[in-house]
Amino acid sequence: MAPASTPPGPQPRPTLEGVPAYRAGRPAGSDVLKLSSNENPFGPLPGVVEKAAAELARVNRYPDAGVTRLYDALAAHHAQPADRFAAGTGSVAVLFSLLEAFAGPGDEVVHAWRSFEAYPIGIRLSGATAVPVPVRADGTHDLDAMAAAVTERTKVVIVCTPNNPTGPVVTHDALVRFLADLPSHVLCVVDEAYVEFVRDPSAARGLDLLDRPNVVVLRTFSKAYGLAGLRVGFAIATPDVAGAVRRATAPFSVTDVAQAAAVASLDARAELDERVDAIVAERVAVVGALRAQGWQVPDTEANFVWLPVGDDALDLAETFHPVSVRPFAGDGVRVTIGAPEANARLLDLAARWLTTH
Ligand SMILES: *Cc1c(COP(=O)(O)O)cnc(C)c1O
Repeated sequence: MAPASTPPGPQPRPTLEGVPAYRAGRPAGSDVLKLSSNENPFGPLPGVVEKAAAELARVNRYPDAGVTRLYDALAAHHAQPADRFAAGTGSVAVLFSLLEAFAGPGDEVVHAWRSFEAYPIGIRLSGATAVPVPVRADGTHDLDAMAAAVTERTKVVIVCTPNNPTGPVVTHDALVRFLADLPSHVLCVVDEAYVEFVRDPSAARGLDLLDRPNVVVLRTFSKAYGLAGLRVGFAIATPDVAGAVRRATAPFSVTDVAQAAAVASLDARAELDERVDAIVAERVAVVGALRAQGWQVPDTEANFVWLPVGDDALDLAETFHPVSVRPFAGDGVRVTIGAPEANARLLDLAARWLTTH
């Protein structure tokens, strides 16, 4: 035992005590049955591995700190000036940098809940206070309640469309109305991690709102593009906002390997569309089958579906083994749309669950 006179060791900032831990989807016994992390069942797009591997031969060098290649490719792809982009190690990291840049102790950040579990973590880390606003029974954002939650202390609001984990989008018209009433000093983050899977023509189009100085759109290469393991995401905003996010990001975050893979992925447009179409077709089939079984699942425009089983969430996730799904205790279970074989297993388990509950 240490003597009573031992001086205390280094202590982290008290705010860290309140930071919730990120619970990743539990790894499954077999990769193909892992439906817990909204990953893409397809491998990287054609040409991506070769381009990334070529960069590995020169990893004794630091990456291009200016992220020039990626910004130029994104600028061409989205027909936006390169200085409107800010990249990071996944759009989660970009969001954390953004919160670091725009919010701190005494500030508030409004977001829907249940929504992406990284939000409360990043908000708390920034020192700001999270103001969660419950989603409606159908899993949609309650934008009126979110608008009402905005105060003088609000610095950022986060809109997740489609919403992880419930699935529905915010409509474009609703978002435009929300922005019309939002004070101009409040930054509105539109998290479009799953936008490539959206087929609803009335869905929000964040990129069409960039004429507003307080809108920032988040995109990622982790979901539709299938690069979750390489960690690349980005924000599109005004050059001022993008510049602030860049300054709040650690230098050399995005490696040349990741940049090369992201740029090559942007070049594989046709193959991307094909794969996303296949996942969307599976989604439509899975949602249809679940509803035919008797499940009440909210509309989803993403690569996952929400089972609102409330207190049975943890139990369901255990029962569905070896298919790995993502439970949120007391709330529900999120199931990723995977390869057809995994989705079929999922549907079998879902049918069996209903016969016993
Ligand atoms: C997956 C996801 C992201 C992106 O994650 P990164 O891998 O960090 O790019 C961002 N927002 C939501 C809502 C997500 O589900």
